[in-house]
Amino acid sequence: MNVAEWLARAGRVMPERPALYQGTRLVADYATFAARVRRRASHLRSVEGLKPGARVAIFTENCPAYLELLYAGWHAGLAMVPVNYKLHVREAAFIARDSGADLMLVADPGDRDLAAALLEAGSATRLAGLDLGLTADDDHAGPAPRGRDDLAWLFYTSGTTGKPKGVMITHGNLMAMTLSYFCDVDEVRPEDAALYAAPMSHGAGIYNFMHVIRGAGHAVPDSGGFEPAEILALGRAFGSLHLFAAPTMVRRLVERAKADGVTGEGLRTIVYGGGPMYVADIEEAVAVMGPRFVQIYGQGECPMTITALPRHLVADRSHPSWRERLGSVGTPHSCVEVRIAGPDGTPLGPGEDGEILVRGTPVMAGYWNNPEATAKTLAGGWLHTGDVGRLSPDGFLTLTDRSKDVIISGGSNIYPREVEEVLLTHPAVREVSVIGAPDPDWGEVVVAFVVADPGVAVSDLDAHCLAALARFKRPKAWHFVAELPKNAYGKVLKTDLRQRHAATGPD
Ligand code: AMP
Repeated sequence: MNVAEWLARAGRVMPERPALYQGTRLVADYATFAARVRRRASHLRSVEGLKPGARVAIFTENCPAYLELLYAGWHAGLAMVPVNYKLHVREAAFIARDSGADLMLVADPGDRDLAAALLEAGSATRLAGLDLGLTADDDHAGPAPRGRDDLAWLFYTSGTTGKPKGVMITHGNLMAMTLSYFCDVDEVRPEDAALYAAPMSHGAGIYNFMHVIRGAGHAVPDSGGFEPAEILALGRAFGSLHLFAAPTMVRRLVERAKADGVTGEGLRTIVYGGGPMYVADIEEAVAVMGPRFVQIYGQGECPMTITALPRHLVADRSHPSWRERLGSVGTPHSCVEVRIAGPDGTPLGPGEDGEILVRGTPVMAGYWNNPEATAKTLAGGWLHTGDVGRLSPDGFLTLTDRSKDVIISGGSNIYPREVEEVLLTHPAVREVSVIGAPDPDWGEVVVAFVVADPGVAVSDLDAHCLAALARFKRPKAWHFVAELPKNAYGKVLKTDLRQRHAATGPD
């Protein structure tokens, strides 16, 4: 089934329900949303001449038209390639060429830098504006037939290391993700609205489907992105918002709420994930804002759907394992199996650290035009996530790190995450990232990059680590920085930190 069927149905069954908002301004009800999608789809088919399976990229800031264009592509049977608007034009041009997109939809089709980058990349992709097809006739055609295994979303991984790869997400994958959201993450009601405060090319946008199914609203903040004060105001205005937020966004939202003396009224559900949420941070978030948080763990290769830690487990302090559960990423979604594997692939038991493998209906079809990487990542029918973790006897998964980030010092494995968790409990530490650096004596040593309040000394932090960590896990070198380098998705660029340490040594 084509996921565009969900919108076509909402347009028929709930035509008058409010659908798309710019800020708090309603710009389309479901009848209008669905009709615009049909017009644009008709244009893509008959004027652009695109056949089912062709790729169309979209490279623009968040806006209500984003959803219309995504659904128009699916309606016409095309595969959509959402490109994070925060990427450099050269990175976007790489994606256009790699995906073989016929069109790239952009706010300014006359953008010379982008045109030059496409030329330089050897891409034949044409640029078109966001109003594409709006004046076409409504032919009232239904969505093109698409099967479970047909490509719907070509998602380029964030590439904290190496070139991004195109993850092939099928209609069947999106369906599994959407249904298991209702099952394992949260309910959605018609009076709710989704808020797109993170790039729609990523987790925030891929979470639109449940709201279309329920005939709920979709709101794009006027700032186009994440402004904590604006989010809090939109919560009050809408009364029942859902949003996806990376952990850094949650932290900023909590700081703002605390400063304003508010609890985030009207922000019904904040789904967090995409990077480690430290226990101290989520504890504070719940203390300040209450039971609004649900955690998910996923990756492009299994979008948003590996494990979930539901609202009551995040907020309920009465359970004896509450704190351990809060430090976990929850339990597997209903449509996947999770296994922990040793270096030779053998399954490991509870409490043992190994690579996290996943099998189930949301797992990608493979990497676009990259059979070697596909074979490696999907070896034996399991998705090899590259994340390291352990399962508790009662089935909660805790991520200890990305496998490549493990620091081996004097023969002992040190997971940066555990050192980071401890440092973050120091009141003067705002952000931290821990890496390993080569060392002639130890093989590798632990190096910490810290964003801290002025005046804090290394000796304070060292004493703090000594109080909670094995001696060998203490950082041997420290860098005090104003901010941590992050990619367009807010993930810390550990590769940059490694290079910086190699170039300059410790502070
Ligand atoms: P991406 O494919 O760019 O979405 O990145 C996915 C990666 O982000 C995962 O493989 C994890 O390393 C990390 N990640 C996602 N969700 C979580 C989470 N809830 N906690 C910790 N790390 C996460």
